Amino acid sequence: MKSFVQYESDCHFPIQNLPYGIFSTKANSQKRVGVAIGDLVLDLALMEKEGLLNSNHFSKSSLNSFMAAGRNSWSTSRKEIQNLLLDTTATLRDNADLRKHALVAISDVTMHLPAEIGDYTDFYSSRQHATNVGTMFRDPDNALLPNWLHIPVGYHGRSSSVVISGTPIHRPNGQTVPGDSETPVFGPCKLMDFELEMGYFVGPGNEFGKPVSIEDANEHLFGLVLVNDWSARDIQKWEYVPLGPFLAKNLGTSISPWVVPMAALEEFRIANPEQSPAPLPYLKSSEKWTYDIQLEVALTTPDLQKPAVISHSNFKYMYWNMAQQLTHHTITGCNLQPGDLLASGTISGETPGSYGSMLELSWKGTKPVELPNGEQRKFLKDGDTVIMTGWAQGDGYRIGFGETTGELLPALNL
Ligand code: CA
Repeated sequence: MKSFVQYESDCHFPIQNLPYGIFSTKANSQKRVGVAIGDLVLDLALMEKEGLLNSNHFSKSSLNSFMAAGRNSWSTSRKEIQNLLLDTTATLRDNADLRKHALVAISDVTMHLPAEIGDYTDFYSSRQHATNVGTMFRDPDNALLPNWLHIPVGYHGRSSSVVISGTPIHRPNGQTVPGDSETPVFGPCKLMDFELEMGYFVGPGNEFGKPVSIEDANEHLFGLVLVNDWSARDIQKWEYVPLGPFLAKNLGTSISPWVVPMAALEEFRIANPEQSPAPLPYLKSSEKWTYDIQLEVALTTPDLQKPAVISHSNFKYMYWNMAQQLTHHTITGCNLQPGDLLASGTISGETPGSYGSMLELSWKGTKPVELPNGEQRKFLKDGDTVIMTGWAQGDGYRIGFGETTGELLPALNL
């Protein structure tokens, strides 16, 4: 499949991808829906207005109405958009005036949150990550708590502080317990971290009181983004017993602006990892819910402008998958709504170079990470920028996710 829009084979946004995002431009400050193609954005609001799409979702300032429309509508729109961009379709290709208005340089657009996120839930579903954390903080011989192999462990997060890539994050202030002391002090977090995750947007919701069966999970999954779930480890350590993370995780969660539709990722489904003990029947699925998506984390610092990659991971390193997470979330009758965000939890592979957080990469600060200019990091320093990227490698093209970036700013002086 080829587009009349030109791009290189390692471009994140070929015609096979077509991720959706909310953008505005200097010329038109109205937030609206676009798809990324090469280094351009196709203005879908304009395409609708011109009568070239049979939909009524794209002049809106969020993707919620499109997300709610369901798989048939997603499929129809995707075909129509793909057709408009094909090198064999004359509509845009041969209409210079329309093209000038419809295709905007990606460098000239401002991206906004893709959805009004009603609820955000974060899981803890990479076995290696859970094992690493359990080993460091509890007991290497019993790193996984007894429930971990039976339920996709998660917590209800905070949607109001989910921010778009590029938004700076302040180092939080909070309560921490220094060294061997037993009483807390108040001040800036000293162990600031990132978490490499994937996030999934919910499409149609489920009615209150009616769980989603695992066979129907695909009806409710719209698409994926990159997630940096910023984490304050010292605040987390003091607060997380017995109810789990609270302020250590609500200071900001960064997401990439382009939502890659599930349809673009079909051919990157691979066999699921073996689950032993076997999950309870409501969490069992015969479908492939594991995806081969390469992930990277890079850092820049005030003294290192060229991003240094510090982790190579992969979305396939998940023990519990999206369908299991979504089904588990609703099994009580809890209702998901269009635009809700579910995140995977930190994604760590088996080797130290594939760990998805500074906590693991520096093994709790005992093995500092070396940067190319000789700097070392145990955790993040003020002025560091965390850059996450990811892509699925196809035959001659990539389904890319772009980036999520964020600079860590100093703590407020309270
Ligand atoms: Ca997390």
